[in-house]
Amino acid sequence: MKLLLRLFKYLRGYKGHIALVLVANFLYAIFSIFTLSMIVPFLNVLFRQGTTVAVKPSFAFTTQYVVDTFYYYMGQVVAHHGASSALLFIAAVMVVLSLLSNLSRYMGMYVWATIRAGLMHDMRSDFYGRLLQLPLSFFSEQRRGDIISRIGADVQEVEWSIFFTLQSLCRDPFLIVLFLIVLFSISARLTLIALIILPIVGYVLAIIGKNIKKHALKSQQILGKMSALFDETIGGLRILKAYNAQQTASRRFHDQNFQFYRLNKRVFRINELGSPLIEFLCILTLLLITLVGLVALPTPAFSDGTMFMLYFVVFARIIPPAKSLVSTVYTMQKGLSAASRVYEVMDADEKIVECENPESVSGLHEQIEYKDVSFSYYEVPDAEACEVLHHVDFTLRRGSTIALVGPSGSGKSTIADLMPRFYDVQFGQILLDGKPLDRYRISDLRALFGIVNQDVILFHDTVYNNIVFGLENVTEEQVYAATKVAQAHDFIQELEEGYQTVIGDRGMRLSGGQRQRISIARAILRNPEVLILDEATSALDNESEHLFQEAVLPLLKDKTALIIAHRLSTIRFADEIIFLKEGRIIERGTHDELIAQEGEYFRFYNAQT
Ligand code: ADP
Repeated sequence: MKLLLRLFKYLRGYKGHIALVLVANFLYAIFSIFTLSMIVPFLNVLFRQGTTVAVKPSFAFTTQYVVDTFYYYMGQVVAHHGASSALLFIAAVMVVLSLLSNLSRYMGMYVWATIRAGLMHDMRSDFYGRLLQLPLSFFSEQRRGDIISRIGADVQEVEWSIFFTLQSLCRDPFLIVLFLIVLFSISARLTLIALIILPIVGYVLAIIGKNIKKHALKSQQILGKMSALFDETIGGLRILKAYNAQQTASRRFHDQNFQFYRLNKRVFRINELGSPLIEFLCILTLLLITLVGLVALPTPAFSDGTMFMLYFVVFARIIPPAKSLVSTVYTMQKGLSAASRVYEVMDADEKIVECENPESVSGLHEQIEYKDVSFSYYEVPDAEACEVLHHVDFTLRRGSTIALVGPSGSGKSTIADLMPRFYDVQFGQILLDGKPLDRYRISDLRALFGIVNQDVILFHDTVYNNIVFGLENVTEEQVYAATKVAQAHDFIQELEEGYQTVIGDRGMRLSGGQRQRISIARAILRNPEVLILDEATSALDNESEHLFQEAVLPLLKDKTALIIAHRLSTIRFADEIIFLKEGRIIERGTHDELIAQEGEYFRFYNAQT
């Protein structure tokens, strides 16, 4: 129920539109009734029987007046122009009424388009906004493809179910009520008998709805898994082919696909069960009424055959809106199960929260201090057991360079990720100019850092835009200056369209070293207060690394930088080298000091040279 209310909140901006839809649908219902009612005079004239009104009725605000006036004019037409002209007259009235009724229906649908498209737009915007806010930890726990499936298929399902439900709620009650009024006015007793099928229909639908919800959730989960598989397959196609693992991948996919097929089959079948069942029940009821009405309890209204026809036709016409109204019950169930998946993302804990009245910060004045920092990726009671950093202490002074060294998995990247608050520390503190990081506005804080990672993230866009990415008011000269420093200018110019070359998905069309140089240029262009190079030169060949060192290392001289590197040649010049092992600092000092110590760093260094 809470979920339902949350969904309906999206409609708040569309009150005016909904009112218009209601009006249009009301008109549609009224005109439909009138169109149907035309059957009676039509048949009367055709079979030359029934009422005529000889004297023009005096005006009164009643249905009787409308009916009598109609019959009066029809009588006139029959008397003066013959029965066939009367039929033409009725046919003309029917055409006009039917035109009006369908016009109102289209008007309703026309306004609906705004609501429906708007709803989808609003929901996707919310979802995307949320994706940008969510902490990195969320994405290491969830598969990307599954999230994409939620923003695509699930939002679509929610949109469809809200649309269907609302459309039905805004239209069908009018039709049903008006049709019922007509039925009751023809014969109250028979209509009451007809209504006994309601509880049976309700019961059948409740069972169907429950089943649908259960299966729908499962099938959406599988769809999520499948799109995760698609995503991983496209991302890992090179490995899949290299290891001849197509068979395994294909089997994994077919398992999921087959499960999806079976579930869908069940959902479709249950879905389609409702309508025929209800229709069958209605026909049964209709026959029951006919028998009762004509034989058991002769109903006066039915002595006039045309009235009986009208009753029959109106009853048949009540079936579709009734069916659609009741199927909202299970459409909504499907929608709700999709909504629950959408809201799982929307409601994911925002672990990195901004404090109240955050301070703005635009530069680093003195230092960043890690004070007795311990960190675990998991929030478990026994966090110590899965801590990846233990009691880390160091100070990065303005203008100095610290290098982190150590075997892989020792926690170097984790230390770097804590600085821009990609994760928050659980124990200890990180202070920027004496204040904890969480005192500052997050966007300000992150703007201080220029980050180059070992996984280079490039977007499907031109080289130029990939470098400028997110910055405004940058001149071409600045971009060229940055690419020259990053040793990227030359190779970019040699690309087909130079800086305007579009690089494929995640930069597939460039070599690893080229991608890395672009991302280095991106960081240099930002001229950040603090440069974080996380294995930034790992994809460069020896010569490029040498060139890079020549260009970047002088730049680092008066920059504040945190460097993580496998190749120790890059970091020999660091002011302080910190050697990590299993999340602990085990040695620290300058290159020369550490070599002199002949400890772990010394062995590490010797192994490389
Ligand atoms: P390094 O950069 O020294 O190779 P990392 O900081 O990447 O080491 O990793 C340190 C430890 O934290 C490793 O044991 C790794 O498995 C773990 N780890 C890294 N990232 C995550 C994550 N997103 N979720 C859980 N554990 C992680």
